[in-house]
Amino acid sequence: MSSLECLIDRLRGTTMTAFTGAGMSTAAGIPDYRGPQGVWTMNPAAAKLSRVSHYRDDPELRKRIWLDRLANPLYRARPTSGHYRLQGLAHSGQVLGVVTQNVDGLHRLDDSASYPLVEIHGCINETRCLRCGDVAPMTQALTRIFDGDPDPRCQASVGGRRCDGILTSNTVTFGEPVPPEKIEKAQQMIAQANALLVLGSTLSVNPAARLVAYALDSGKLVAVVNQGPTRYDTRGVHKLDIDCQDFLGALESITTQ
Ligand SMILES: [Zn+2]
Repeated sequence: MSSLECLIDRLRGTTMTAFTGAGMSTAAGIPDYRGPQGVWTMNPAAAKLSRVSHYRDDPELRKRIWLDRLANPLYRARPTSGHYRLQGLAHSGQVLGVVTQNVDGLHRLDDSASYPLVEIHGCINETRCLRCGDVAPMTQALTRIFDGDPDPRCQASVGGRRCDGILTSNTVTFGEPVPPEKIEKAQQMIAQANALLVLGSTLSVNPAARLVAYALDSGKLVAVVNQGPTRYDTRGVHKLDIDCQDFLGALESITTQ
């Protein structure tokens, strides 16, 4: 039996929570930001620019970032076959939900398709107000940029007046903590399943690493599917060094037999 067949055999009939990282979205043409070869790792200046304090204090920087958002192909990326295969596995009851490090929103699929989802670093398809916390669709802000507003402000009503706070992408950037309620939701999802299936993450940063430790400490079967080494390869996980899209194809074909 190959290592792929062996792992699929171990997962047969078990309930799983999936945990996805950058490797899940590379097939959609999205660069890896936080991995060892990631955009931010290789270019610390880009990471610094993403800090929320710089963004809040510098209107010229905000205008540049809004124009970048308007032009960014990331907003036109489409879910991969793997994103949809997870939906099939969720419908069959084998995958209870997905926890993702990715901010691309691709696990949201479309209006007619979905599965329980925790986006621990947020999602670029939404804006968040730095003053009142209001969350709104990113398309609203991008439409205003397109119509000539270089730095769109929050339109939520606070105490009967327009908030007018600074809007940013509803994502966790350098200098910001992951909201604790998201970690709690992710842990609840992991606790409900027999196994944790990691797809395309090197598990080199928190909270990814911490969530895998939580699953191992809870006695869960942990399967890690990633091309290249991960931080947990020698820590009692079932590691498979293949592309996570190929793995999901194989897993789906066996579970639908
Ligand atoms: Zn606001």
